[in-house]
Amino acid sequence: MNVKSSLLLALCFGLALLTAGCKKTEPEPAAAAPEFGWQIDQFADLRILRYQVPGFEALTPSQKELVYYLSEAALCGRDIIFDQNYKHNIKILRTFDAIVEGYKGDKNDPRWTEFMTFVKRVWFSNGIHHHYSTDKILPGFDADYFAALVKGSEGVTFPLAQGQSVDDFLAFLRPILFDPVVAAKKVSQDSSKDLVVNSAVNFYEGVTQAEVEAYYKGIVDKKDATPISYGLNTRVIKKDGKVVEEVASLDGLYGAAIAKIVYWLEKAAGVAENDRQKKVIEALVAYYKTGDLEKFDEYNILWVEDTASLVDFVNGFIEVYNDPLGTKANWESLVNFKDLAATKRADALSANAQWFEDNSPVDPRYKKKEVKGVSAKVITAAMLGGDCYPSTPIGINLPNANWIRKEHGSKSVTIENITYAYDQSSLKSGFGKEFSWSDEVLERAKKYGPLAGNIHTDMHEVLGHGSGQLMPGVGPESLKNYHSPIEESRADLFALYYMMDEKMVELGLLPHMDAAKAEYDANIRNGLMTQLTRIEPGKTIDQAHMRGRAMVSHWVYEKGKAENVISRETKDGKTFFVVNDYPKLRRLFGQLLAEVQRITSEGDYEGARNLIETYGVQVDQELHQEVLGRYAKLNLAPYSGFVNPVYTPVIENGRIVDVKVSTTEGYIEQMLRYGKDYAFLKAD
Ligand code: ZN
Repeated sequence: MNVKSSLLLALCFGLALLTAGCKKTEPEPAAAAPEFGWQIDQFADLRILRYQVPGFEALTPSQKELVYYLSEAALCGRDIIFDQNYKHNIKILRTFDAIVEGYKGDKNDPRWTEFMTFVKRVWFSNGIHHHYSTDKILPGFDADYFAALVKGSEGVTFPLAQGQSVDDFLAFLRPILFDPVVAAKKVSQDSSKDLVVNSAVNFYEGVTQAEVEAYYKGIVDKKDATPISYGLNTRVIKKDGKVVEEVASLDGLYGAAIAKIVYWLEKAAGVAENDRQKKVIEALVAYYKTGDLEKFDEYNILWVEDTASLVDFVNGFIEVYNDPLGTKANWESLVNFKDLAATKRADALSANAQWFEDNSPVDPRYKKKEVKGVSAKVITAAMLGGDCYPSTPIGINLPNANWIRKEHGSKSVTIENITYAYDQSSLKSGFGKEFSWSDEVLERAKKYGPLAGNIHTDMHEVLGHGSGQLMPGVGPESLKNYHSPIEESRADLFALYYMMDEKMVELGLLPHMDAAKAEYDANIRNGLMTQLTRIEPGKTIDQAHMRGRAMVSHWVYEKGKAENVISRETKDGKTFFVVNDYPKLRRLFGQLLAEVQRITSEGDYEGARNLIETYGVQVDQELHQEVLGRYAKLNLAPYSGFVNPVYTPVIENGRIVDVKVSTTEGYIEQMLRYGKDYAFLKAD
C-alpha cells in the first residue's frame, strides 16, 4: 500500500490499502534553501512542485548508473497507466501533445489558456479522470474550439484510425471529451449498481460485475495457503462469448512497453550492487516476460529479503485502488536509495514491532503471534513513474500479498525528500492559521507537526499495515469496495493509538507528548473538516483514504460526545473542532482499532459497510460550504504533484563513468518530452 500526499498543507494523513503501497500527506516545515523554487506551477486544483535528490552525488558511479537504468525503466510504463485509466486516454494524450506542439493560431485567446489548463490536468491525472475523485474532468472550452485547434496544428500527426477523416476523428472524440455522461467516473463506489459497468477504468471490457465475480470464483483456489494475486496484471474481456483474461507480458497485453522496461531492467541487473539484488531484478524480468503471477511472488519474496542494497525500486502492477473490485493493479514505479541517517528512526519502530503488536488493544485472536521481519527505511526518491507520477506516495509498504507479508515480512518506506519538498513549499501558506482554534494549537503544529507527521507515516507503514491477522478462509476480497477505506483506517488507527504512548518518548521517537497532541489536533481537524476542501459542492466522499479518515474522526467525535472529548466551536462565524481530552481520545482510537481489526480479521462485510456508510461518506453541506469559502480565500491548490529530475549519463570510451542530475526541467517541457520518448503503445 502507499500513502499519498494529497492535502495541502499540512497535517493530514492519508493512508492506504491492504495490498501494497500507501500514499500520504503534506505537513509543515523547518528552515531551508529558500533559493530553490519548490513550486513551479499552479492551475485548477493542482500545484506542481520539484524535489531535490540529496545524496545522489555521494553514490558510487555504478550505483548512479543503476539509478539511471532503473529510472529509464520507470518512465517506459507511462503509456500503460494512461491506458489502464481509460481505454481512449492514449489517443487523447497523443492528440493533446500534437496540438501543444503544432498549434499555430492565437495563443492570447482565453480559450487557449483553458485548453492548456485542461491538458495540464490530463497529464497530471494520467488521463481524463481526476486522479483523486476519479470524476471525469470537463474542458473549459467547447468542441468547436477543439476542432479549430486540431485543424490549426501544423507539422504534427494525429492518431487517426486507418482511413479515418479528421472530421470523423473529431466526431469520435467529441462525446469522450465533452459529454459529461460518457465515462463519467473512473472508479464507481456505488455498490447499488454494477461496479464494473459503471467504472470507466480499463480493467474490464464488455463484461458485468457478476460475470467477473463468477469467472474468478471458478479459478480462485480458496484452500491455497499461498495464493497468487489472481487477476493482478490482467484485463478481463469477452471473447467469442466467453469471459477471458488478457495478461500483461512481453508478448501479451502492453508488450511493446514491457519490452522497453525489460531492456532497461536487464541493463540494471548488470550493474546491481550485489548478487542478491541481481537475482531480484532477474526475477522481475522473468515475471514480465511471462506474466506468470507465481513468478511475481518469487520476485516479491526475493525483493522483500533484499534489505542490504542501498538503491532499491518498485516497478510493476502493484496497487489495486483503481479497481472497483479490488484485484487489478495500476502500473507504477519508484526508484530510490536509502537515507541512512533517517532510517535509524524507522529501525527503532521495526525493532519493537512485536511489542507494539502484543500491546495493542486488539482481541488476541486477531493478533500476529510472531511479527516477521518488518523492515523499515527512510528513502530518497530518485524517479517517479506510472501511477506514482506526478502525484506521489510519501510512504509505501509492500508487497501486498498477505501470505508473503506474513511469512516473509514487508518493506516499509517513508520518502523523506518528497515530504521535505511539501514542507518547504507550504511554508508561506496561511492554512494552519485559518483552521487552528488557538495560537497554542498553531504553535504546537509548527513546532511538532512535520516530525509528528513523519512518525505517523512510519507507524502507519511499518506497523499498521503489517499488524493483525486474518482468520482462516478470510481473504482481502471479503470486504469488497469497503476493503480500502477499512484497511487505511486500520493502519491509521494503529499509528494514532500508539502516537500518545509513553513508549514513543522512551524510544526517542517523539521529544515530548505535545508532538502527539499536534498529531491528534491535525487528524481530527482534517477528518471532520479540512479534507472537505477536496470535495466538490454537493458530492459525497468517495475516495478510499478520505472515507477512512472521515470514518475515524466522525466516530470518535460521536462516541466522545457525552464526555465532551471533542467539541465543535464557533468563533467569528467560523467553525473549529477542538480536542478537549487527549487521553480519552486515545482510548476511543483504541476501541475503534479493535473493532476495525475484528471486521478485517473476520471479513465482516456488513460491519465494514456500516462503519463506512455511517461515518465516512456523507458531508455536512453547510459546513462544507463554509470550509470551501475559507479555503478559497487562501488561494491554495489542494493537490500537488512533482516533476522528475533529469539524469544524464557521462560516457567515456563507450562506458558510463558518471551520471549528472538536474532539477530544472519545466512541467510542460517534461510532459512533452515523455510524450515523445516513452510513447510505446498504439493509440487505439
Ligand atoms: Zn496505508
